[in-house]
Amino acid sequence: MPTLVMKFGGTSVANLDRIRRAAKRVGVEVAKGYDVIVIVSAMSGKTNELVGWVNETSALYDAREYDAIVSSGENVTAGLMALTLQEMDIPARSWQGWQVPVKTTSAHSAARIEEIPNDNINAKFAEGMKVAVVAGFQGISPEGRITTLGRGGSDTTAVAFAAAFGAERCDIYTDVDGVYTTDPRICEKARKLDKIAFEEMLELASLGAKVLQTRSVELAMRYKVKLRVLSSFEEQSDEAGTLVCDEDEIMESNIVNGVAYSRDEAQMTLLSVADRPGIAAIIFGALSEAGVNVDMIVQDISEDGRTNMTYSLPIDQIARAEKAVDAIRGTELNFENLIVAEDVAKVSVVGIGMRSQSGVAAKMFKVLSDEGINIKVITTSEIKISVLIERKYMELAVQALHDAFELDKAA
Ligand code: ADP
Ligand code: ASP
Ligand code: MG
Repeated sequence: MPTLVMKFGGTSVANLDRIRRAAKRVGVEVAKGYDVIVIVSAMSGKTNELVGWVNETSALYDAREYDAIVSSGENVTAGLMALTLQEMDIPARSWQGWQVPVKTTSAHSAARIEEIPNDNINAKFAEGMKVAVVAGFQGISPEGRITTLGRGGSDTTAVAFAAAFGAERCDIYTDVDGVYTTDPRICEKARKLDKIAFEEMLELASLGAKVLQTRSVELAMRYKVKLRVLSSFEEQSDEAGTLVCDEDEIMESNIVNGVAYSRDEAQMTLLSVADRPGIAAIIFGALSEAGVNVDMIVQDISEDGRTNMTYSLPIDQIARAEKAVDAIRGTELNFENLIVAEDVAKVSVVGIGMRSQSGVAAKMFKVLSDEGINIKVITTSEIKISVLIERKYMELAVQALHDAFELDKAA
């Protein structure tokens, strides 16, 4: 039997009615003759609630217990989905990550999937089971502890299962009907894309477009998984949604194809550090050891052998970053002051057309300046340009860039 993976995100399983609606979609594919692996998220809001409980209980929590708690939302929806399917006379059962087992690294709260043996589930398919419902987002470490894959991780569970089972396709059902040129919730003119190249999707995801978890796109690209994003709220044809595919499957493309944003950024500046070889290695070495994910970096021109070092990081890592820098102050590192800005956001434009076209950066900066938006930090790569700006201008910047690059019009 051909296998299909269908993943339902939080809003698609937010209550029993929605679970029933999703189960009906699964029934349609079963009727076509597929063995289906369903990956479910927790009911929407559940994971946030669990994370909140962890933080309230313990500020510097044991990450193994965080995972034990935060993974539990998916256990509930997996069981409920299996029961709902059984009520529809579709042979189904649920699996928690450890039962499959979804083997991961032991990097708690950000584990990576290493292996998914398919014999357990395939044996059940051989016995006549039609749907395996698997709790997304979770796995088991070599030490036998429950792990989670990072926020949005059920997307990655889905793609990893599609690769492990050689599925014909991996369908990601969510609350929008595909991948848009930017988040349709903050830009009315956002346009749905029929297809998007893996590389562009990878950039958009890593720059904040949470419609797919970055790691899921990486895996799909590596294992050539046919990945589709579509809505669980509408009747769907086989062509619905957005196909994430190889660049050469896309005929026409704009130079800029998407705008992404990341709201939860912070900026730190170390004032007056020595401008000498090794200083960046000391600062960013200490931050990296503390598990801080530094993103953008700028160093000012030096004056009298001193300079300022500015970098951006996720807002929830400020405390950890301050601690790491304080720990080396006065020994390896001297600085006058540490300034923290919590009111920043990152906005990026992405497009593979930028490889061969110049002028995108200049245009982007002009658009922002016309709106009176000051740029704090800039980074570029072959196919993207990112700027750090004041958070209150984030939505305006996204909309203005979307307009200026005419993303509402197809190529
Ligand atoms: P799920 O719970 O189904 O995993 P998510 O909330 O993780 O859903 O992802 C879907 C959301 O991603 C959408 O509701 C939308 O607000 C957001 N989003 C951000 N950027 C984009 C984009 N470029 N295209 C579509 N959705 C986007
Ligand atoms: N429930 C998890 C989260 O909210 C995983 C997921 O939904 O993909 O991050
Ligand atoms: Mg998600």
